[in-house]
Amino acid sequence: HKVIKCRAAVAWEPSKPLVMEEIEVAPPQAHEIRIKIVATGVCHTDLYHLFEGKHKDGFPCVLGHEGAGIVESVGSEVTKFNPGDKVIPLFISQCGQCRFCKSPKTNLCEKGWYDVMSESDTRFTCKGKKVLQFMGTSTFSEYTVVNEIAVAKIHPSAPLDKVCLLGCGVATGYGAALNTAKVEPGSTCAVFGLGAVGLAAVMGCKNAGAKRIIAIDINPTKYEKAKVFGATEFVNPKDHNKPISQVLHEMTNGGVDFSLECVGSVAVMRSALESCVKGWGVSVLVGWTDMDDFAARPIQLIAGRTWKGSLFGGFKSKDGVPKLVNEYLEKKVKLDEFVTHNMTLAQVNDAIQLMQTGDCIRSVLSVALQ
Ligand code: NAD
Ligand code: ZN
Repeated sequence: HKVIKCRAAVAWEPSKPLVMEEIEVAPPQAHEIRIKIVATGVCHTDLYHLFEGKHKDGFPCVLGHEGAGIVESVGSEVTKFNPGDKVIPLFISQCGQCRFCKSPKTNLCEKGWYDVMSESDTRFTCKGKKVLQFMGTSTFSEYTVVNEIAVAKIHPSAPLDKVCLLGCGVATGYGAALNTAKVEPGSTCAVFGLGAVGLAAVMGCKNAGAKRIIAIDINPTKYEKAKVFGATEFVNPKDHNKPISQVLHEMTNGGVDFSLECVGSVAVMRSALESCVKGWGVSVLVGWTDMDDFAARPIQLIAGRTWKGSLFGGFKSKDGVPKLVNEYLEKKVKLDEFVTHNMTLAQVNDAIQLMQTGDCIRSVLSVALQ
C-alpha cells in the first residue's frame, strides 16, 4: 500500500469557494477501505456545513457525502470487500454489534455518525496539513478512506452516477416516508420542500399508496418534478396570506395524515406539525438544522399528533443501501429523474451555486473515470 496523490476539492474555511488541490490519501489501516470515487451528488447538508454550520473548527475539510465508487485497496482484516467492488460510502455506520444495530427500532449505530472526523481519524493531508473528512466520507475527492462498517457493497451492474444519490438524499427522503412516517395506503400526505430529499419523500408516499400528496415549496419551478414523483397537488406558501397549516386544513377537512419537513427550518417544522390532523397525524423532521430551537403549543401533541425525526431515512445503512440499489435496478425506485445537471468535480462551486439559487434538483459530479 502506498500513499495516493490525487485531486480533491478542499474547503479551507467557511463560506469560501472550494479549491481544487492535490492531496495525499494514506493507505487504509485495519478494517478500512480505500475507495476510488467515481461520482458524487451535492446535498444541502454540504452547503449547510460550508455556509451555516456552527463548527468553525470543522475546517479544512473535504465535503461530499453522497458518492459511489470502486474499492481500490483494503486494509488488514477486511474480508468482505475486494478491489474492484462497487461501493457506496455511508455517513451512518452499521457495525452490527452495538445495542443500536441489534435493535430493529433504530438505524443509529453506536460507532457514530460523524459530523467531521477527528484529526487522528482522517486519512487526508494537503500541503503538510491534516484535512478533515466531512461526515466520515468526503466524496469530493478522487480517493477516500472509510471504515468497512460504513461502506455498502452494491450490485456490480449499478450505474454509479445514479446510485450515488442513494448515499444520502434519496434514501433519506424515501425512508422518512416509508420507515419513519410509515405512510399508509389511502392517506393524505404533505411534503414541505421539494429538493431531492423532499421529492424522494413524495416518491415514498406514492409507493406507500398515499391517495393525496400535497407538495409545498416557495419555488414553483419544483412542481413539475414533484408531479413526476407522484405529487397530486401543489401549494406555494407565498400565494397565501394565511398560515400554510390553515390552507392545508381547509384543503383536507382538518389536516393531513402525514407531513414531512424537508427544508431544514424550524418555522417550517412547526407548520408541518400544525398541518397534521388531530387524533393521529404524524409529522417527521427530515431537514437539517442545529442553529435554533423549535417551538409548538403542547396542545398539538396532547391532541394526538406525533412529532418525530429521522436520519438517513431510518435505513440501517449497510443493509438498506444495497437493497435500494436493487430496487432501482428493478425500476421500483426512480433515480435518473433527480439528476438535473451532470458536471465534473472541478465544477463543484458551480454546482453549489445552482443549489443556492434553487436552479437544480441534484447535480452529479463525475470524479474519476470508471
Ligand atoms: P434543497 O436545497 O435541494 O431543497 C430544499 C427545498 O426547500 C428547496 O426546493 C427550497 O425552495 C424549499 N424551501 C425553502 N424554504 C421553504 C419554505 N419556507 N417552505 C417550503 N419550501 C421551502 O435541499 P435538499 O438537498 O433536498 O435537503 C433538504 C434538507 O434535508 C436540508 O436541510 C438537508 O440538510 C436535509 N438533509 C437531512 C438528512 C437527514 O438524514 N435527516 C439527510 C440529507 C439532507
Ligand atoms: Zn446529504
